[in-house]
Amino acid sequence: RGRFSKPTEQKSRVTFADVAGQDQAKKEVEELVEFLREPDRFQSVGAEVPHGVLLMGPPGTGKTLLAKALAGEADVPFFSTSGSEFIEVFVGVGAGRVRRMFEAARKAAPAVIFIDELDSIGRTRGTGLGGGHDEREQTLNQILAELDGFDEKQAVVVLAATNRPDVLDPALLRPGRFDRHVTLNLPDKTARRAILDIHARDLPLADGPALDDVAAGTPGFSGADLKNLLNEAAIGAARRHAKAITAADLEEARDKVMMGTVRTLAIQP
Ligand code: ATP
Repeated sequence: RGRFSKPTEQKSRVTFADVAGQDQAKKEVEELVEFLREPDRFQSVGAEVPHGVLLMGPPGTGKTLLAKALAGEADVPFFSTSGSEFIEVFVGVGAGRVRRMFEAARKAAPAVIFIDELDSIGRTRGTGLGGGHDEREQTLNQILAELDGFDEKQAVVVLAATNRPDVLDPALLRPGRFDRHVTLNLPDKTARRAILDIHARDLPLADGPALDDVAAGTPGFSGADLKNLLNEAAIGAARRHAKAITAADLEEARDKVMMGTVRTLAIQP
């Protein structure tokens, strides 16, 4: 992926059925499907539909998944980028990159744009350590300009994800920008079970009730952690040359993921 690569446009095959739990967040995002499918119906009666939606919630709770599901359900192109890429990959070309991505999405409209880790470019301006944040500010200003530049005829929905809404520049949250907020939470036991069901669909599980035990024993796990747990359990079964995943594999995997989680938490600033 080069510096001057074209904006990433994808076709999403994800649907709302792939997102377990998060009922409230799903409901709020579902409202946008109709608008993307038939923007004319809304425009002809002068209805203003929001362009910017902020998805807030801890890592691994399905923010990216939900954005992809919106594009998949509406059957429109999905353009995505991540805030951290602007710091690490697109150094010096951030603003241009933003402009080109919005331009491509407008041409392809109706379309969905997804900006992951918005906080890495969208932090409050002028408070960075050591100054010299012109580059990031230019990128942020370009995002603001693009959001302001939509007219009501352009059916482009911009979703941005963050797990630090508290550090975002207030300019991003003004009316007409990311003024609709959707919260995703860590899953409760029922939601954890539903997430496990989705990701265990194609896995050979030896004993039926084992997933109930996993759901009960994983408070604090995100959807991504649970997916990870199932994969670790499958790796464990393969190492034993077994044909099916047992309760013991699941338990061992749970401990592994839990230690991993604890370690990541410990090194976070
Ligand atoms: P981050 O903040 O780290 O970018 P995120 O909130 O965007 O995380 P995703 O990337 O959507 O999280 O989640 C990672 C993976 O975990 C998803 O691709 C999916 O497989 C699984 N997952 C997370 N949440 C759910 C969920 N509610 N239902 C089903 N799968 C989920």
